Amino acid sequence: RVIERTRALDSALRFSENLVEQLPIPVWVEDASGRLTHHNRAFRDLFQIRDETWTGRPAADLLPETSAAVPFETSIETGTNRRDVIIDHSRLDHPAPLSDDSTGGGGRIGTITDITERKEMERRLRELATSDDLTGALNRRAFFAVIAQEVERSSRYGIPMSLVMIDLDHFKQINDRYGHAAGDRALKLTTQAMLAGLRDIDSLGRLGGEEFAVLLPQTPLSGALDVAERLRCAIAAVDIPVDPEPTTIRLSASLGVADRLSGETGPDRLLSRADAALYRAKDEGRNRVVG
Ligand code: GH3
Ligand code: MG
Ligand code: MG
Repeated sequence: RVIERTRALDSALRFSENLVEQLPIPVWVEDASGRLTHHNRAFRDLFQIRDETWTGRPAADLLPETSAAVPFETSIETGTNRRDVIIDHSRLDHPAPLSDDSTGGGGRIGTITDITERKEMERRLRELATSDDLTGALNRRAFFAVIAQEVERSSRYGIPMSLVMIDLDHFKQINDRYGHAAGDRALKLTTQAMLAGLRDIDSLGRLGGEEFAVLLPQTPLSGALDVAERLRCAIAAVDIPVDPEPTTIRLSASLGVADRLSGETGPDRLLSRADAALYRAKDEGRNRVVG
């Protein structure tokens, strides 16, 4: 009878071990002192480790500092690359069998969900939703969201910020003379030239057609006028290939600059003053900066 019972227990134990081993989700068990007592195939595949070498070693050698609040999102090193994961774990009431766990208390069991692909998809979707297809600059909606946020922040902390409005000069002529494709190329190249001269914290948006705007955080009017002048020169230096090759043409732009005035907490006045400055730049003969 005892032998029969032992057989049944042995079979149940092997069944449950096999169940965990075959689970497609990475699972690990650690004892109360944080040493790995079990890990299944999916876990070893994720970390690219071999069975024998890991049992008994600290789970912390593989896993990041685990949070008390579960599940939590983090990223891990897996030997060859970095993966975004969700880690979930819970306390075990009993120590693992045959684990020579001197502390006596239970350890914990954890699972890892790889969400790298989902995060990458989210990043791509966000980029699609916020950027302009042709130029890669922020689209109108995203740019206005950034302005609203930045004006709020700048007024709350009393730091300066400026806005530059940019409209390419006589752009219609490019389409008329060289075709729409040449106009598209001009918009792309002009965008790249502008981005090359901006800081990481600056935002470039395409507000529509051949009209752009640059948001300059932490920048007073004097600094913004310098940036605008640099942008004007950068745009004017772009060689745009047109048919028949190898002919190239150049463009100019008119720029209007305004800074956020103290007391202004919304973006409307800032936008309309930059717009008015741009209008004056056009009026005064184009290819210039007005602030
Ligand atoms: P101004 O100096 O007064 O700004 O003259 P302009 O010709 O640049 O201004 P206007 O607003 O009359 O014309 C803008 C032109 O930009 C008209 C439109 O055909 C062209 N345009 C707008 N969006 C695109 C685009 O995505 N691709 C191309 N190729 N052309 C575009
Ligand atoms: Mg124009
Ligand atoms: Mg225009």
